[in-house]
Amino acid sequence: MRQKRAKAYRKLMSLYCMSFGFRQPYQVLVDSEMCKTAISHKYELVKQMGVVLQGTVKPMITQCCIHELYLQGKSEQPSVDLAKTFERRKCNHREPIPGDECLADVVGETNKHRYVIATQSTELRDKLRLIPAVPVVHMNRSVMILEPPSDATMDAKEANEEKSMHASTSETKLGATAASSEPPRKKRKGPKGPNPLSVKKKKAEPLKQSKPHRTGESSASTTGAKRTSDRTTEEGHSEADSGHKRKRKRKRKTMEDVGEEDSE
Ligand SMILES: [Zn+2]
Repeated sequence: MRQKRAKAYRKLMSLYCMSFGFRQPYQVLVDSEMCKTAISHKYELVKQMGVVLQGTVKPMITQCCIHELYLQGKSEQPSVDLAKTFERRKCNHREPIPGDECLADVVGETNKHRYVIATQSTELRDKLRLIPAVPVVHMNRSVMILEPPSDATMDAKEANEEKSMHASTSETKLGATAASSEPPRKKRKGPKGPNPLSVKKKKAEPLKQSKPHRTGESSASTTGAKRTSDRTTEEGHSEADSGHKRKRKRKRKTMEDVGEEDSE
């Protein structure tokens, strides 16, 4: 393998590892045509997969794919023998289905088991390009090719990076777990809109200025309780309400108040 290609493949495999959790040994699902091609070209399939993927590989074959080879009779016995050395992947298709369909089904929408697919089917390759994080190898004459990353893969990679970027701004070392705590903060920033309105209200009702407006999170026990008791008559119930509900009510209330003032 030429050095430039080797470098590109190494980079690509590290992308799959870093962004999508691929690990060695890479689980490679080999289709029946790939087995036949390897036999007819006297190609050391497993060894070459290791070279191209630049790591240890675990070749696998689904029940449906090996069934396809059985169907082709004695002439393909060497391919069957090769396939038999691979780990059998149970696909649970009771009636064997075409290998292409079987592999597409095993990969599913997310390739959650992180398979590499070794297939000679251009149709299947087209299909797999639509699913993020599916490394695909095929043979071109007697050269094994690792496909460049699909658009779906690159989009998913960028989305992942964006997530971890946000995470790193808040907590540097927690990584993905911190990302989940980020979106709610953003949402809280959203309702800033009503603030200018509440300023108006302060001017109109100087008596209430002694109470801090909408900053009651820390002092919910004192001022918060007072305020809820103010509203209790209208809301009907208040004591058992959680802090969140109170907050929401307050906001609605201020909006209503402002509306009334405007009409006056
Ligand atoms: Zn199957």
